Amino acid sequence: MLRRPRRLRANKAIRNLVRETKLNVEDLIYPLFVVEGEGIKSEISSLPDVYHFSIDKLAEEIEELKELGIEHVILFGIPHDHEKDACGSEGYNDNGIIQRAIRKIKEVDSEMNVITDVCMCEYTSHGHCGILTEGGYVDNDQTLEYLAKIAVSHVKAGADMVAPSDMMDGRIQAIREALDKEGFEHIAIMSYSVKYASTFYGPFREAANSAPAFGDRKTYQMDPANTNEAIIESELDVLEGADILMVKPALSYLDVIRRVKDNFDLPLAAYNVSGEYAMLKSAVKNGILAEGAIYESVMSIKRAGADIIITYFAKDLAKMLKK
Ligand SMILES: [Zn+2]
Repeated sequence: MLRRPRRLRANKAIRNLVRETKLNVEDLIYPLFVVEGEGIKSEISSLPDVYHFSIDKLAEEIEELKELGIEHVILFGIPHDHEKDACGSEGYNDNGIIQRAIRKIKEVDSEMNVITDVCMCEYTSHGHCGILTEGGYVDNDQTLEYLAKIAVSHVKAGADMVAPSDMMDGRIQAIREALDKEGFEHIAIMSYSVKYASTFYGPFREAANSAPAFGDRKTYQMDPANTNEAIIESELDVLEGADILMVKPALSYLDVIRRVKDNFDLPLAAYNVSGEYAMLKSAVKNGILAEGAIYESVMSIKRAGADIIITYFAKDLAKMLKK
């Protein structure tokens, strides 16, 4: 007797019935870039269809996301250049760009899950993710104090979850302790636990104006060649109290996503980063690939083991999934 797997591909309903992996709009987190100023909704040239928003323009965008069924956003703030300093103090200013953006979003839609990226690079004059020593090395333990202050300030402003992206050792524990001390023991931490020093962040750096003024981030972000290290980083974050783990970038690291998923029981996020988005989006916009390539590529991230996907494609996908 011939085994005939084609029977289960016979029509759309059957294919839907036996689909092993499902991509849902609930899985998606949409990144938002918030800038100072008024009346600004300007397209980021390296990220087609992604915008910088001033706070007064956020309401429209949040309404649109809500209509599309997108329930989660992750915020990145871009302060004025003159507000940047060596210790990124604008990052923990209770009236800083992110803190005001959180309050605005919560005012528009109190149910929107507001996650904030916790790092210093958008706020430091040198563009590194921490406090620099004289030799230009990022001082790990001094940086922890500042990260904790930023996280507390975001939560005070109303953030539902914080996502530290700096890759300092011990930051999850430092942030957990600081949040607990302020009575925020109910706030979850989504850790950028496995973050590689990747070229695929290029367009984001333009979007967030956060490229380092000198050197690179290889003394804190991971070597793209390593996967055992992904297990070590994840394990440390679990022990320090992370609630969600993350692998970043996603598409060139599908094997890492699978390895982390197989080794840990926490929910796993993956960041489908700006370079991955920009490549595919330009191919679709220029008619080189059909839109289905977006679904297929984000599906590969889910299939690899990610439960949660941070993606600039969230709006495109929400529309596609409705069809
Ligand atoms: Zn950073």
